[in-house]
Amino acid sequence: MASQPDAADDRQNDVLQRHRETADAVVPERTSLYIGGEFTDAAGGETFATTDPTTNRALASVARGRKADVNRAVDAAWEAFETEWSGYSAGDRQRVLTEIADVIKTNADELARLETLDNGKPITEATVDVHSAAAQFRYFAGIVRENGGETMAEGSRYGQVISEPYGVVGQVILWNFPLLMASWKLAPALAAGNCTVLKPAEQTPLSALRLAELIDEIVPDGVVNVVTGFGEEAGDPLTRHPDIRKVAFTGSTAVGKQVMKNAAETVTDVTLELGGKSPVVVFPDVDVPNAVQLITAAIFYNTGECCEAGSRLFVHEDVADDVLNGLVDAIDAMEIGDPLREETDLGPKVSAEQVDRTLEYLEAAQDAGGRFLAGGDRPDDDVLSEGCYVEPTLIDGLDHDHDAVQDEIFGPVLEVFRWDEYEAMMELANDVDYGLAGGVITDDITQANRAARDIEAGYIWINSYHDLAPGLPFGGYKQSGIGRELSADTLDHYRQTKTINLSL
Ligand code: NAP
Ligand code: MG
Repeated sequence: MASQPDAADDRQNDVLQRHRETADAVVPERTSLYIGGEFTDAAGGETFATTDPTTNRALASVARGRKADVNRAVDAAWEAFETEWSGYSAGDRQRVLTEIADVIKTNADELARLETLDNGKPITEATVDVHSAAAQFRYFAGIVRENGGETMAEGSRYGQVISEPYGVVGQVILWNFPLLMASWKLAPALAAGNCTVLKPAEQTPLSALRLAELIDEIVPDGVVNVVTGFGEEAGDPLTRHPDIRKVAFTGSTAVGKQVMKNAAETVTDVTLELGGKSPVVVFPDVDVPNAVQLITAAIFYNTGECCEAGSRLFVHEDVADDVLNGLVDAIDAMEIGDPLREETDLGPKVSAEQVDRTLEYLEAAQDAGGRFLAGGDRPDDDVLSEGCYVEPTLIDGLDHDHDAVQDEIFGPVLEVFRWDEYEAMMELANDVDYGLAGGVITDDITQANRAARDIEAGYIWINSYHDLAPGLPFGGYKQSGIGRELSADTLDHYRQTKTINLSL
């Protein structure tokens, strides 16, 4: 017993040292605003710290942009649009997007380690993110020339319908997939011919800043601008700026509503990618080990910090006990620890605030009589005590109208409901304000299709989860959002239609 604290200290020191060395190697030197192709301090000279959630130590100090900086960035973006970018042909933009994809690939290892430091996600998952970010640019490079327009030649009337970029767009993103969300925003905006001002999340600004540095030689000055800072100080003025012609936002439904109001003041178009509380429906015919694997990935990937996470499980009575026992075993087998290690399945959450928020829901669930089949607290491990960890948690027996079920917890928490009557189950599955995604697990193709149609959500996986392929539109029903990303539709969110009616 006496040697245990020392062993824990040693392991903790290993983690600290690994993170210090990695930070020395990958944290970018330039962490100020990126405006007009230059790294520049905020007008007020202020900064804020971004933290490594594994160690709770500051990683870097980053410029704290405010309205004056947003104004500067919007001006720089318009100047770039008017003097250079609007003259780029589709082929020119295709080359730029392809070069961005290439530079991300070339620096994939460094970007993945930076993402793991700033966000806490396991390095294996950060690596997937970085390659997916490159794939975004490649996908939009591929479709950038599909801009044909239409004509109507009729009597003396010759009509042309063309698409034009908005000019300058404002983009605000959150912290769960920092580089990937930046790429979901930047790639279609640039492909459609716009310049952009991007505000990354305050918790995870580093990969967007490093990307800005990497693309500086590829993209003309002012085409991409990055204003780091806080939502109310930088996000708010960006989303209500009168010269921003399109707002694209990814984050919570509460802030999304505010952003929509901001944009309404100037009748500006918005795309919103908001929260979710997605159901996973398990039918009685499933192969239990396969179902357990899918359910585990659906909720615990990225520590549950996924908008599309499958966070409500509807499991048929006939297999419920087997599936739940399987889930408890799968949770027991999960490696919770330093996200820089390849073996780690579950890293810390992004911040101490997010841990507190999750634990408040768990406490409320406990008070309401929820039965915790696994987890429910911070892990009981001294090595993890400095990091923002929450145990993978499985709760049975909650009323479906409880806040912990209705609200998006955005953590590693799965709530379980057993069913035997399809209609009643589907009514509950749809009884939330959200409608982002859903999962169906069964080999019965008729049941699978019926459930996929009945779930009120924008994206349904049958016998998989989280697989988001460029080309297949992603976005929400109900309060999960407006608009679609990842697909050709997305280009249309970044351009406007002009009709030219010529009388011959
Ligand atoms: P959040 O609070 O809504 O923040 C998102 C971004 O908005 C951050 O950059 C934030 O700045 C900024 N912001 C905050 N207040 C603002 C304001 N008044 N005006 C303009 N911008 C403002 O998001 P979160 O709660 O951290 O993130 C979790 C949510 O994102 C979940 O609901 C999740 O489901 C959703 N999400 C959706 C998708 C999707 O594609 N549907 C994808 C990923 C995540 P700060 O950094 O200073 O807070
Ligand atoms: Mg951070």
